[in-house]
Amino acid sequence: MSIIVQKYGGTSVATIDKIKSVAKLLIKRKEAGSNVVAVVSAMGKTTDNLIRMTKEISANPSKRELDMLISTGEQITSSLLAMTLKELGYDSISLTGFQAGIKTGDSHTKAPILDVDIKRVEKYLNEGKIVIVAGFQGMDKNGDITTLGRGGSDTTAVALAAKLNCPCEIYTDVHGIYGTDPGIYPNAKKLDYITYEEMMEMASLGAKVIETRAVELGCKYNVPIYIALNTGECLGTYIKELDESMETKVITGLTVNDDDLMVTINNVLYNTKDIYNIFNKLSSRDINIDMISQTAPVNGYVNISFTAPKCSKSIIEELVDELKTNMEKIKVDIQEDITKISVVGLGMRTQSGVAAKIFKIFADNDIEFKQVTTSEIRISYTINTKDREKAVSNIAKEFNL
Ligand code: ADP
Ligand code: ASP
Ligand code: MG
Repeated sequence: MSIIVQKYGGTSVATIDKIKSVAKLLIKRKEAGSNVVAVVSAMGKTTDNLIRMTKEISANPSKRELDMLISTGEQITSSLLAMTLKELGYDSISLTGFQAGIKTGDSHTKAPILDVDIKRVEKYLNEGKIVIVAGFQGMDKNGDITTLGRGGSDTTAVALAAKLNCPCEIYTDVHGIYGTDPGIYPNAKKLDYITYEEMMEMASLGAKVIETRAVELGCKYNVPIYIALNTGECLGTYIKELDESMETKVITGLTVNDDDLMVTINNVLYNTKDIYNIFNKLSSRDINIDMISQTAPVNGYVNISFTAPKCSKSIIEELVDELKTNMEKIKVDIQEDITKISVVGLGMRTQSGVAAKIFKIFADNDIEFKQVTTSEIRISYTINTKDREKAVSNIAKEFNL
């Protein structure tokens, strides 16, 4: 009997009625002859609400306790779904991440999956049960509950599919993967397929339709991943290896990310020790730097800009104060209303001219850009957030996304 892993995200299980609809889809698949494993997220905005509660207690709560708390959302959904299936006459069992054999590292709130002991899931499948697994969570070597990072239920699903050697279907609130976020550009076109490599790049740049590590695992273990609307009725998008049937576009996707801020340190003495000192301090506090730019030296001084997650703002401010004690001349500006937009496409390996087209769009539409970085299949730009919609719609039109 074939096995299928399906994953249902927060909006797909937001109410009891929606959980009942998911149960019917699982039954349909079971009746069609598959062994079914369903991975579920927390209902609706449960995880956000749990995190909000902690903010009333502490600005920086213990990460172990945070994991104890936020892992509960998925457990609620999994037990409710298993109960619904039983009520409809189908044998089912819900499992926590640990019970499903998800073993993780111990970095709380962003733990990597190290291994999956699949025996218990396989046993229940052999008994004919529909197995429901609480996504987003696992257990570390100390026996503590961990979570995998926001959006981590996708990763749970692909890891289980890799171990069960079967495809993974991810059901969500959009019809599949689009050329750009349909929530920002409603005319975006749905893709029939996309390569692992392009999707990994898009996910890591902020297309939250699937979590980056889920795509990485899919690529590593060659798990066919299919993303579609949670009614299961319309054709979605396949994530797979590049093959001859796929048309290589110059640009496949455009991503938008508002999660970073930009720090500019003016009047830095142009010497490598001072510059090293700045970035060393940031790294010692685990600040994840993304884009970096530097002006040409004028009278021995440069201005350095970098982007980092908005959630690190308070630590950055502390570090800036420390830096000012030794570097009296520096002036620091932190800008939060910036957006990173990136174009991604395998075709950029062989075709030039993408950057020029985007610079023309910026020039024609009066869009100021602050930083540009490139990789083999990506170009990213930092712009002012006020220009976000204008930039997205013009780039999407130019590249037919
Ligand atoms: P789930 O709760 O099912 O995990 P998410 O909210 O994590 O769903 O992901 C789905 C959302 O991803 C969509 O509502 C959409 O706004 C957003 N999104 C961002 N980029 C894209 C894209 N390129 N294609 C489709 N959806 C995208
Ligand atoms: N509930 C978790 C989150 O909101 C995990 C997930 O939905 O995949 O991030
Ligand atoms: Mg998600």
